[in-house]
Amino acid sequence: MITAPQPSLSTRVNPFAPDPNLQVWQDGELIPVTEAKVSVFDHGLLYGDGVFEGIRIYNGKIFKEAEHIERIYESAKCIALEIPMTPEQMRVAMRQAMEANNIVDGYIRLLVTRGVGLLGIAIQKAACPSVIVIAASIELYPAEVYERGLNCITAGTLRNHPQTVSPRVKSLNYLNNILAKLEATNAGADEAILFNPNGYATEGTGDNLFIYKKGVLHTPPVSCGILDGITREIVMELATKRGIEVRESLLIRHDIYVADEVFLTGTAAEIVPVVSLDKRLIKDGKPGPITKQLTEDFIAYRSN
Ligand code: PMP
Repeated sequence: MITAPQPSLSTRVNPFAPDPNLQVWQDGELIPVTEAKVSVFDHGLLYGDGVFEGIRIYNGKIFKEAEHIERIYESAKCIALEIPMTPEQMRVAMRQAMEANNIVDGYIRLLVTRGVGLLGIAIQKAACPSVIVIAASIELYPAEVYERGLNCITAGTLRNHPQTVSPRVKSLNYLNNILAKLEATNAGADEAILFNPNGYATEGTGDNLFIYKKGVLHTPPVSCGILDGITREIVMELATKRGIEVRESLLIRHDIYVADEVFLTGTAAEIVPVVSLDKRLIKDGKPGPITKQLTEDFIAYRSN
């Protein structure tokens, strides 16, 4: 039988291909990104079996390094993944990746996969976890988004139930979040807010949620099923320092519709205002004064 020639997918031009000069740290070595390879048998690829972190570099310093390292070890512990290096070695690897690429202001993506194994999900079928550190520039929301604020929708896709994979695990499977983000894009909105199976607000697709109402700043508790955000923690501290009462509260959609201010927090986005949910304007539909104040405080904090 004659088989028709197969078109090669590898000759396509990828507009998002990384800068070929980028050096990545992979399992102990710095190598050009064009030579870095992930096996088709890596369980991170086959099953999303792994964990990750997103970390900022400000002015040549790794921001909240200890907190991110602690979180990746906790994520790994929860999925019984043994990280094959010490936290100190991980710090060195991050510094090496940052310096090899002369990153002064940028982003680190740290990931640990279950590694190459046999086909089959049992963790005993993969004995060598793999560690990758990418230090690169970061694409943020454009400045105009911070001025006008985000238009959000309520996602139909629910946040993972805390009794499935805990949302506190920053796992390599973000499909829930991806599908919620797709819902937002399809609706012509910027971002989606996910709710838990009990109807309480959790977070955005990659950022924690805050609302401000009648002098009190509310954010859903971690037990609601959210990532225990590092930026969230800083913002709670900064607000307390400003004399603003901060509460971890169960919030339903109604609470967000009628809030005085709403914003999201995360490593990449920092603090980003939300100005509408499901086409209901938050107050007058403009970023509010508390959001602006906390943004200024945050910028001062991370610049020190
Ligand atoms: N929630 C989710 C689902 C996230 O992925 C992230 C991080 N991108 C956050 C919240 C914010 O967490 P952090 O402030 O630690 O970046």
